[in-house]
Amino acid sequence: MDERINKLIDSWKKRNIQGLYCNNKEEAARKMLELVPQTASIGFSGSVTMDQLGIVKMLTERGNSVFNQYTPGITREENLRIRRLGTQADYYMGSPNAISETGELVFFSAYGNRISGISNARKVIIVAGINKITQDLDSALKRAREYATPLNCKRLEWNTPCFKDGTCHNDICLFPEYKRMCCQILVIEAEVAPERLKVILVGEELGF
Ligand code: SF4
Repeated sequence: MDERINKLIDSWKKRNIQGLYCNNKEEAARKMLELVPQTASIGFSGSVTMDQLGIVKMLTERGNSVFNQYTPGITREENLRIRRLGTQADYYMGSPNAISETGELVFFSAYGNRISGISNARKVIIVAGINKITQDLDSALKRAREYATPLNCKRLEWNTPCFKDGTCHNDICLFPEYKRMCCQILVIEAEVAPERLKVILVGEELGF
């Protein structure tokens, strides 16, 4: 583990956030399964990182009750209802858009379930590849807005200006012309409840 990661985990400790390091996604998935009781209910926000870990499938298969808004065949209304229920589950999981070396965690959200779950669930496990680490909070916000969100819009085919050219046009990205993805922003600077928030940092590139 390099010095930069040691410092980041130390910084989290002072912010009441528990930082854990795993060498790869397989190790990270095992760690998540270990941290969550088999009887716990789970809510999550979808992300490429979570997909790469395959953690939702693993939790479902071993019998955890998972609020899965991506269950095939459900209506839009049901999808939104499950997102809301997921934020009240025993554990909430997700991945940030960026992490600053100084320890802040940045999440952008369209519907807000991710923000609600991460900021308020009883227990939270955040997972991220080291590619999401930036120098400071400003560059973390910049990464989320100018790099991660345009790629997410592309992936999910959202009608945004960045979907068209890969560049953020914040000033014109408004309704009804566009379906803006960056509607809410959460920056976690610290956590008041001990043991509530854990971050698993993975020593490889995951998501974007
Ligand atoms: S504000 Fe709009 S254009 Fe800019 S990154 Fe967000 S969704 Fe894309």
